[in-house]
Amino acid sequence: LVSRENHPERSTVHVGGVPIGPGTVTLIAGPCAVETHQQTLDAARMAQAAGARLLRGGAFKPRTSPYAFQGLGEAGLRILADVREETGLPIVTEVVDAQDVELVARYADMLQVGTRNMQNFALLQAVGAAGRPVMLKRGMSATIEEWLMAAEYVAQRGNLDIVLCERGIRTFDQATRNTLDVSAVPVAQRLSHLPVIVDPSHSGGRRDLVLPLTRAAVAVGADGVIIDVHPQPEQALCDGPQALVEDDLGELAQTMTDLPPLL
Ligand code: PEP
Repeated sequence: LVSRENHPERSTVHVGGVPIGPGTVTLIAGPCAVETHQQTLDAARMAQAAGARLLRGGAFKPRTSPYAFQGLGEAGLRILADVREETGLPIVTEVVDAQDVELVARYADMLQVGTRNMQNFALLQAVGAAGRPVMLKRGMSATIEEWLMAAEYVAQRGNLDIVLCERGIRTFDQATRNTLDVSAVPVAQRLSHLPVIVDPSHSGGRRDLVLPLTRAAVAVGADGVIIDVHPQPEQALCDGPQALVEDDLGELAQTMTDLPPLL
């Protein structure tokens, strides 16, 4: 269903009216985690200033440590919905458990499946049946083939509004949190008709790498990027070191307009 063999035209997925697909590079930005209404609204305004068309923000956070901030849950979803009302930005948010899909789908314009859940087949089937576009992140140790098979699980439930997201893979190198696999973008685009975007924030895990990796993503033909921004990253409850700050926004906006996508 997701293969390009039977579907030679590349697809465009619409999220709350915003297109993600060939001919455009869609910027999705926002806080890694929803912490407060003010923090989310400030981050959304930052995202908008940089040209974002969609707001990201996690209310359910899949954290490595059980002692780390796990997200605000439904209270976070309500904040996202309020901020959508205030800014007009449709929202992309993660769902980590099949049992929460219905709840998250009530608020979200797009459901995100994170790297740790790429092969959670019950979750994939549940989001496939939820009637919302899905962003499927690549598992950090998954091959491209496994990633596309995971997308197939979603598609099998009748939902072809799927956007693939390359977010870095595990390699031997410790200099960055993950290694952005730029080649995955054209490879996945050739094998599948689905749009492919890149997450430069979670790939590198470092603020100083976000803009260079964004340029790499755009140059290699990504259909969009998803970026963490935070009004006060030093106080962030999640992944502050990778969040862009106010001063980075001009350069981010420039990056998004400078490099036209390869068609
Ligand atoms: C995220 O985008 O908030 C996230 C946790 O990303 P990943 O699943 O790629 O680690």
